[in-house]
Order: sequence, then C-alpha cells, then structure tokens
Amino acid sequence: MDAIGERIAALNERVRRLRADDLYFYQLPSSAVDGPWVTVNGRRMLMMASYSYLGLIGHPDIAKAARDAIDCYGTGTHGVRMLAGTLTIHRELEETIARFKNTEDAVAYSSGYVTNLSVISTLVGRGDAVISDKINHASIVDGCLLSRAGFIRFRHNDMTDLQRALVKAGAAAKLVVVDAVFSMDGDVINLPEVVRLCRQHGAWLMVDEAHALGVLGRTGRGIEEHFGLPPDAIDIKMGTLSKTIPSVGGYVAGRKDLITFLRNTSRAYVFSAALPPASAAAAKAAFDVIERETWRVEKLQHAGDLFLRGLRSLGFDTLNSETAIVPLVVGEDDRAFLMTRLCHHADVFALPVVSPAVPAGLARLRTTVTAAHEPQHLERALAVFEKAGREAGVI
Ligand SMILES: *Cc1c(COP(=O)(O)O)cnc(C)c1O
Repeated sequence: MDAIGERIAALNERVRRLRADDLYFYQLPSSAVDGPWVTVNGRRMLMMASYSYLGLIGHPDIAKAARDAIDCYGTGTHGVRMLAGTLTIHRELEETIARFKNTEDAVAYSSGYVTNLSVISTLVGRGDAVISDKINHASIVDGCLLSRAGFIRFRHNDMTDLQRALVKAGAAAKLVVVDAVFSMDGDVINLPEVVRLCRQHGAWLMVDEAHALGVLGRTGRGIEEHFGLPPDAIDIKMGTLSKTIPSVGGYVAGRKDLITFLRNTSRAYVFSAALPPASAAAAKAAFDVIERETWRVEKLQHAGDLFLRGLRSLGFDTLNSETAIVPLVVGEDDRAFLMTRLCHHADVFALPVVSPAVPAGLARLRTTVTAAHEPQHLERALAVFEKAGREAGVI
C-alpha cells in the first residue's frame, strides 16, 4: 500500500476500534432542539456541548427573519460579493455588526474559518511576521501558514513570551493574532497587556471572538467590554456568525479603510459566493435579539459561574476557564472516551477532546453552558459528571 492509502487505513482502523468498543461519540446526528434538550438516536439528552451560548437556535424572530428573506430574495445570490452577489441584506447585516462592535464598518464572509484564512493571508505575506498564541484556533494557524509570513508562536497567554516574539520579528510588518476566549480551555486572553505590547512594538492586532461574542462583557459585546477597553483597542475584530449567532458566516469589524481594503482584495470575498440571504437575515435578526433581550447574557454568565463553582467543588480540574467553555481534564485519551460513554448512558451530551487537538495527557471532556440551561439542568449535569468522574477515577 502507498503512503496515502496507509494513512487512510490507519485512521479507519482507529475509528472502527472505537466504534466496536462503544467509544466513538463524534458526528452523532441530533434532531429537534427543545431548550437545552436534543434528541439523539431517539433519546432525549441534556445538551452540554452547544456553541449556541445565548440559546438562540429556534428563536421565533430569527426564524421569521430567515423565512421573510427567502420570500424577498430567494435562496441564493447572483455570485460573489465583489461582483453581482451583494444584496441589501448583506449591507444591513454589516452595518448591524459594525454598530454592535462599535466600529466604522464591517465585512461578512461565508464562514469564520474562511474569514481567518482570507484576512490573515491578505494582510501579511512574505517578509512580514505573523505572531500567534500557541493554542489559537486551527483556522488562525492555517491563515498564518497560507500567508507565507514568518510564523512566530508564543507560549499560551504568556506576555513575556509575546514580547520576545515581537522583538524577534524586528523591523518586519507585524500582525499579532489571538483568540479572545480559547476554544479548548475556556480562558480569556490578557488583552490589556497584548494591546500595550502591540502599540509599543508597532504591531497590528487581530482578535478572534468566536467564543466571546454574546458571552463576554455586561451586554455581550465582547472582550473590550469585558476589560473596559476603548472601542479602538483592537485593529481587526473577527468573529463568527455560527455560534452565539445561530446562522453561518464570519465577519471582520474595524476602520472603514481597512474594510474597504478587505472588500477589494481578500480572496474569499472576491472569489467565493456571498452568504445566502436567509443566513444573512437570521444573523442580523440575532444581533437585534441580543440587544433587546438583555437577560440572556446575564443568565449565561450566572449559569457559567454556578457550573464552574460546582465542578471545582467536586474536585475537577477545569484549567483557567472563566467562560461558557468548561474543560474537565481527565488525563489520557482512553479515560476521556470512557467518561464520555458514562455521561451519554446517563443522557448527558458532552464530547471528548483528545490529542492532537490538545496536548497528550491533557485529554478532556469539553463542556459548555448556555442561556438555555436552568439551574436544575446544571445540577443534573453536575450529578452525572460526579458519578462518571468517580467511576472513571478522575475525581
Ligand atoms: C468556530 C471557530 C472558528 C470558525 O468559525 P466557523 O464559522 O465555524 O467557520 C474560528 N475561530 C474560532 C476560535 C472558532 O472557535
């Protein structure tokens, strides 16, 4: 067998063995959302792995906006945004994002992944330097590699090491990229210090708010609100429309000249189809709901505190999480799979994250809380995690 064939066979063997041992929990189709409940294989399970942080999937106003957009525009567009694909609903969405993020303008792309890939590789190239936190999301890493700029990584949330990286980059044009909330650990970047260092070293700053939008800050506006920083602290404010915002797509918000530059040069905007109108309308309506139903952000933050405190008092290692993403570190990969099986058999839906997505020995159950969880749901989840954690020898 050739090398490609061997790779495929090895992966298939790993999946086959996990399935045979009832330890494969990825890609399970669910149907029907009902608050924090989902139906999987005919069983009603408590969802503890959703990115729908404010519980907006199925919100009647958002669903109606999507239906109305189909009635008005149909289901597709006339092509790429640069040419005939731009619709009035795209501009309305972008104006809404810019207002929400307190910037002059914003541009939407067809996914968060594509946004990072395209924006990073448009802004920097050969001879420049791109500086990235070691555990940044894969889409940031891929954007950095695609750009062909010098790729410098610094130790996770380590400001001394970031300073070293900035010095090492020397006179090159510099772009620093960080997650606001780290998607595997649930901790928050030390943004005030990152901003200070970027200014000191003349570097541009891009922040990915995939898990911060609607989560951080008193009104869910994100990481500047969380730290009380001015709206111009971040040059390039990136986020997705697929997590808190129950649609699909990604965006960048920033100064008007930056957005004009991206609209005319970033390849995903110039060469890939526009967001479908229903998705754009749903996303716009979701921002409006967040502004109107302010209780959602409060409820999420309260639920997060309650859940974290509960897990820590049971003796779980939740790293430095202070957000809606809560890792339960269990150690080796096998133990994460076993712990997941125990939870699923008790109708709690959580998922294991294992190497290489996280370092070996730091496998975890990665859980999330949302505004759809009431205190009694979280108590139930805690009871199941406690029992499973004891049986698996984690606590
Ligand atoms: C999910 C995610 C993305 C990608 O967003 P999609 O809209 O799902 O493509 C980018 N960055 C981070 C940190 C994410 O968690």
